[in-house]
Amino acid sequence: MEIHNLLEEKVKTSVDEYCESSSFDRKKHCDCIQCRLDVACYVLNNTTPKYVVSSRGIVHHELEYTKKLQLEADILGLVKEGFSVIASRKRPEIDHTKKSESPDREGIFFNFPNIIGKIINGKTFEPISNAEVKLFLDDNLVNMTSKMTSNPIRLTEYTGGLFIFWPYPVKAEKSGMEKTFTFKITVTHPDYNEYTKLFDVKVTSKESFQDSIHLQNTMNIEEIYLFPRGV
Ligand SMILES: [Zn+2]
Repeated sequence: MEIHNLLEEKVKTSVDEYCESSSFDRKKHCDCIQCRLDVACYVLNNTTPKYVVSSRGIVHHELEYTKKLQLEADILGLVKEGFSVIASRKRPEIDHTKKSESPDREGIFFNFPNIIGKIINGKTFEPISNAEVKLFLDDNLVNMTSKMTSNPIRLTEYTGGLFIFWPYPVKAEKSGMEKTFTFKITVTHPDYNEYTKLFDVKVTSKESFQDSIHLQNTMNIEEIYLFPRGV
């Protein structure tokens, strides 16, 4: 059983259509793949998700006609707004020349959930900052899907001990295959004993590369307790 936000596909399509339309101003706005994704995230963060449950991975859902028109108008409005917002804080560190998803994002993939965890001092139960968290698969440091997440992660005093990984999808031979991946997390900190944890993530392969942050597709791992060295 899976949960989908019906709006995700709709929003991505609207963004693409708007970029292709004559009302898109190329002098003012960038239509590279990353900016499109940023706009899609902006729209999704400003709309109420419409969740549906699907057991087969394919969602058939038709909204009432008038509601649908209103929704489309609302989304288009937000898409336009999103391009202005994104333009005003255009990220200099990314490549704005890529117009489409790279070919390595086409095919069948095992898409992973966002992996969320928390690191806590086992004596005081306070969140720990300054720890370095690494995620491994088969002893290799795992690549992340988005540049918004990194591996390793260094926890700052602002993250409240929380970390989030978004592992890069793994190619699959065919869709509908179930596979269990065993990930390893290591935590190091100069003042605490090192910590290692293994955990399984079971995923089913799909004919898509999951490239927008699916907040509903998250996996919380148990809290990690670190103990001060020499105690
Ligand atoms: Zn761009």
